[in-house]
Parts: sequence; C-alpha cells; structure tokens
Amino acid sequence: AAEEGFDVEDVEGAIEEAGHGPLPVLAVVGRPNVGKSTLVNRIIGRREAVVEDKPGVTRDRVTYEAEWAGRRFKVVDTGGWEQDVLGIDASVAAQAEYAIETADAVVFVVDSTVGVTDTDEAVVRLLRKANKPVVLCANKVDGPSGEADATALWSLGIGEPHPVSSLHGRGTGDMLDAVLEALPEAPAQTFGTAIGGPRRIALIGRPNVGKSSLLNKVADEDRVVVNELAGTTRDPVDELIELGGVTWKFIDTAGIRKRVHLQQGADYYASLRTAAAVEKAEVAVILIDASETISVQDQRIVTSAVEAGRAIVVAFNKWDTLDEERRYYLEREIETELAQVAWAPRVNVSARTGRHMEKLVPAIETALAGWETRVPTGRLNAFLGELVAAHPHPIRGGKQPRILFGTQAGTKPPRFVLFSSGFIEHGYRRFVERRLREEFGFEGTPIHISVRVRE
Ligand code: GDP
Ligand code: GDP
Repeated sequence: AAEEGFDVEDVEGAIEEAGHGPLPVLAVVGRPNVGKSTLVNRIIGRREAVVEDKPGVTRDRVTYEAEWAGRRFKVVDTGGWEQDVLGIDASVAAQAEYAIETADAVVFVVDSTVGVTDTDEAVVRLLRKANKPVVLCANKVDGPSGEADATALWSLGIGEPHPVSSLHGRGTGDMLDAVLEALPEAPAQTFGTAIGGPRRIALIGRPNVGKSSLLNKVADEDRVVVNELAGTTRDPVDELIELGGVTWKFIDTAGIRKRVHLQQGADYYASLRTAAAVEKAEVAVILIDASETISVQDQRIVTSAVEAGRAIVVAFNKWDTLDEERRYYLEREIETELAQVAWAPRVNVSARTGRHMEKLVPAIETALAGWETRVPTGRLNAFLGELVAAHPHPIRGGKQPRILFGTQAGTKPPRFVLFSSGFIEHGYRRFVERRLREEFGFEGTPIHISVRVRE
C-alpha cells in the first residue's frame, strides 16, 4: 500500500470504517410536541426542517445513520407519530412499545417547560418493564433559567435529566456522550448463525399485498412448535416456522397478524414496524401485489430494505389473478420501477393457491449466500487490475483517476473499499459494481463500495 502513496494507517482505518457490522439502534420516544423530531435532526445533523409534518402524512424514512465522537449508530425517529382516535396515551404507548422491541437504548424526551405529565409517567412504566438503557432528555432548556425545570425531572425516577435545547443545540453534546455510554458497541441481535439460532426473515410489504395470507399459508402447512432452541431469544412477536426442512425465525409476525385499528397515523405505525422488523432481520422478503401497479409505497419499502443492507427477495403475490395483459405490463413496471433491486431473486407466488411456495426457500438461501460472500483480496485485485486496464476511467482535467487496489472490508452485506489516485465518478462506480456482480454473483444483496482517494 505504501508505495501507492497511502499510509498504512489510512488504509487500515478505511477498511475498519467501511467494514462496520450492524449498528446499534437508538430510539427517540416521548409525547407529541416535546421536540423529538427537532432532537433527531440535531443528532443526525440534518439541516432541513422536517418538523412541519402534516398529520397522517407518511414519512419516507424513520431510521437514520448518525455519528458522534467517532461512533456510528442508527437513530429511529418516532416523532412523525400523530395522536389518533385512541388518544395521546395509546399512541405514545404504541411508539414506546416499538422502541422496546427494536432499540438497544432509548432517549426519552420530556418537555421541561411543561413538566411531568401522566403520559410521561406511563412511558416511564413501559421503559422500566423493557429494561433497556434510557437517557432522559429534559428538552427546551434554551438558557440557564431553564435548568431548574430540568432538575425537577429527577422525580421521574429514571436517572439524571440532561438539560438540552434541541432547537439551539445547547447541551446536546453532553447528552450524546451519555447516549454513547448507554449504547452497546453492537446490536443485541448478533448476526450470523454462530450461536446456532435460526436465520431471521422479515416479511414486509404495504397493506393488503397478502403478508398475513402468505404467513398463514406457510405456517399452516409447515408449522413447527419449537420449544427450547439453544441460544435464541424468546420474543413473543417472532415466530419459528419450518420451511423446506429448516427452521426460520419470522420477525414481528404479531405486527402482520394483528390488525391495527388506528386511523390517523396507521401508515406511520406500519412503517415504524416495518423498519423495526428489517433492522432485526437478516433477509427481507418483500411482498408486492402483482395485480396492482407498482406504487411509490412499494418502492419506499424496497429502498428501506436496501438501505438497511439486508439480503432481499422480491415476491410477487396474487399471481392467480393475473391475465396476459397484466403480466406484460408488470414486466415493464419491474424494469423501470424496481431497477434498484434488479439483482434480487424473484418469485411469483399465490398465497391463495399455494403456487410456487416451494420456490421461496431456495430464493431466500440464494440471497443469504450472496449477502455473506467474501472475495479474497488476491482475487479481487486480479479482477480490479484487469478491469482498470480494459476500461480505464475517463480522463478529467488532463488526469486519469485510477483504482489502485481494493479489499473487501466486510460482509452482510459485502462492503468494499477501493483506493484510487483521484476522484472516481459515480458512473464509473456503478460500472465497477456491475462488473463485480457479473464476476462474483452477489445475487440478492446490496453491495457497498466506498472509495478512498490518495491525498
Ligand atoms: P415532536 O412532536 O416530539 O417530534 O416535536 P417537534 O420536534 O415537532 O417539536 C415541537 C415544537 O417544539 C416545535 O415547534 C419545535 O420548534 C419546538 N421545540 C423543539 N425543541 C425545542 C427546544 O429545545 N426549545 C424550544 N424553545 N422549542 C423547541
Ligand atoms: P396484508 O395486509 O399484507 O397482510 O394482506 P392480507 O393477507 O390481509 O391480504 C389482503 C387481501 O388479499 C385479502 O383479501 C386476501 O384474501 C387477498 N389475497 C392475499 N393473497 C392472495 C393471493 O395470492 N391471491 C388472491 N387472489 N388474493 C390474495
């Protein structure tokens, strides 16, 4: 590496950074209007204001990557939640319940100018039961005169209140230091099968695509009741189902089976649950209703699974209802609307008739294999050398940026770091990714490529 102009420490640092495993998850909870969204914006350093969400409007994403003091983690923003017909208590409870299911630590936001309310007390009870690390954020302490209000929150009995002004940034640094102490280095859900646990599947898709029908179909036919499986955490919302002779853990089947009777915010709640299930899963089976036009909502769900870095299978359901014309248009839609997962194995199924159910498991196994693929450094560099020689990067400003060498820094999903002599354009990166896929497979998995440029 040294002779290529990189210093060994740079290279090692870049590999370590690119190879990071699954990140710990921090959830931000609290009643409406206490400043959750404002705080999340602060944490992730987002400039544009997203606090003006309209009631009932589904936000694109709820999970963000953040970094503080050199450590990375995910932040789940529950702030888009609106009070619904069940009242504030119920919606806040649903939100906190979600946090309990998914987070490795929780920031509980209280409006210190208002003080402790009954709803806050109810959240505290939920958080206690959950037994997750909690950092108490006494928000809206915009100046020294608010400190006394923050101190009053000791009465909640969950530890030190951190006085913060999410709006102005006051105190957020100290609070984030406390967050880092509370967060484990890696998520509780350790990856892989090292502990002998079953592989984890998230069955996701927008409402009415047939998730519960599919789950019932596979569960009815092949259901096993597994009692004590060594090394598995027992989570009542997950279900162990035997398919193709193997036991799989379906994540958050309660969320699929349970009809959530909420009006406003029901979509948002669904998207929170989806994000949670995807975070906990290794592979996402994305169900799409083949009888209907592929929608923006379908695409959002696909994007969230890709961004979470999960293995992906796309299943087109309700195949029994398709006529020739619809099949024709569906193929065109898949090409244009689902281009971002063109690499994902695809199955055309019917939860009603049971068509092609047996193809689901091989597709899942293919995707997981791609997700875990590791390319030896020697092979990778032989491939890169040939590729660069045959297809050099276009010359820019009289110079030709060149990929000098590379390494795979991690798996699940595969992550590569390439070291170059100059800025590598987006189009060329895409080309490299395409060629990597042609050469090494990676069916059913997103791949990450980061490029380090020699100073
Ligand atoms: P959420 O419903 O909990 O997500 O709350 P928002 O982030 O939407 O904030 C609700 C209102 O409180 C908005 O008008 C914010 O500008 C305001 N707000 C949030 N944080 C602070 C703060 O630290 N100080 C003050 N004065 N206002 C804040
Ligand atoms: P979920 O909201 O994604 O869980 O969807 P459901 O499983 O509740 O299904 C929504 C509707 O689609 C129900 O009326 C199902 O009977 C119907 N449905 C589900 N799968 C199929 C299928 O493969 N073929 C047909 N024709 N209808 C289906």
